[in-house]
Amino acid sequence: MAEESLQQRLERARQLMAARRVDGQPSTGSGAVQPRTGWEADPAAAELRQRQLQLQQLGLANPYFRAHESVSGDTIRVDGRELLNFSGYNYLGLSGHPEVSAAAKAAIDQFGTSASGSRLASGETPLHGELERSLASLLGVEACLVFVSGYGTNVSTIGHLLGRRDLVVHDALAHSSILAGCQLSGAHRLPFRHNSPEALEAVLSEHRRTYERALIVVEGVYSMDGDIAPMKEFVDIKHRHDAALMVDEAHSLGVLGDRGAGVGEHFRLSPTDVDVWMGTLSKALAACGGYVAGSANLIEYLRFTAPGFIFSVGLPPADTAAALAALRIMLREPERVDRVRLRGAHFLARARARGLNTGASDGSAVVPVIIGDSLRAIRVAQNLFEAGINVQPIVYPAVDEQAARLRYFITASHTEAQIERAVDATAEALCAS
Ligand code: PMP
Repeated sequence: MAEESLQQRLERARQLMAARRVDGQPSTGSGAVQPRTGWEADPAAAELRQRQLQLQQLGLANPYFRAHESVSGDTIRVDGRELLNFSGYNYLGLSGHPEVSAAAKAAIDQFGTSASGSRLASGETPLHGELERSLASLLGVEACLVFVSGYGTNVSTIGHLLGRRDLVVHDALAHSSILAGCQLSGAHRLPFRHNSPEALEAVLSEHRRTYERALIVVEGVYSMDGDIAPMKEFVDIKHRHDAALMVDEAHSLGVLGDRGAGVGEHFRLSPTDVDVWMGTLSKALAACGGYVAGSANLIEYLRFTAPGFIFSVGLPPADTAAALAALRIMLREPERVDRVRLRGAHFLARARARGLNTGASDGSAVVPVIIGDSLRAIRVAQNLFEAGINVQPIVYPAVDEQAARLRYFITASHTEAQIERAVDATAEALCAS
């Protein structure tokens, strides 16, 4: 066949593009696709409206997007009322800490409110490097890179590190950002049963050989259930199957380990047992953003090529300084890390004693009370809200209907008395519902 000219190739590419629908499926080309605009008629939008209507008809207030008027700490002010609060990520009580706020304000005074550019292209400040070196040193790895969003960190990192010839195997309860990264990468994606080394082993035994790279992705502590990943077993499996291991420490950094260094410190892993350490700055570190940490080679590659890093603005000065200050306080006051775990364990023990279903929670900073019925979960949360306790219901489709729950975030600022009041009120509200 004669070689195609550039003109012909361009024309063929144009025709291919024209034959594709927006979701990437080729159209039939026979006019069978009905052009449409807007999303109102989409089944998902209709279902959302239906659920909101149902809440109204049952006289239940919408529990979402409730604005708070104070720091989200052990207490919170909503609509002028002071409530006991279990709905915030402020695990170490450092958002609202005077030293963290002062650091953020000083950074604004010096650098302004925006990095004003991608770090690659003039958005860099000395604070960025300082935060990255501090995080790398905490985790015992060579280097670290901070991104403007925790969600975006997973999307951009996984999406960039893998391709179509690779395999990604993730825990079945992995966060949405991990799934989005897997999809973006185009890698073959296989979930394995939650926290099950046997299931991971089985998936890799069957599929590993047909792919170039294999990446295992797990979380240190699971955001909906508060259970801890069996990292030692996962590390063994990773070595045996010549795979890379990534762990999302959104809910384990600042909570697990003697210094709050997370799941690696908790299980006394070697820092190189995990290839990609990921975490967020939005929880224990009282700011906003995410990080990836690991070998100098990995981080250098991401620093110059990860689209969500190079084509996005640098982390704002205030958030960078806040995370740095929070990290400094965490290291200076490790009793905060102890306390969040003690309070989590106290919540868990009391809830079990009251007969509440806390699922698989290991007593970290996340403890669910599983109700198994979305509307009942919303009703119990509303009754608690009226009784002065702020806890978020997590309902279908965020979790399966039979797993609908109240999710309690426990922090180092909570007192034992506050925890006891919340558990007792929950047990009573459940009985009454
Ligand atoms: N990973 C996990 C496990 C999470 O729970 C979250 C959100 N809470 C994220 C990533 C995204 O982090 P961020 O909210 O900081 O964007």
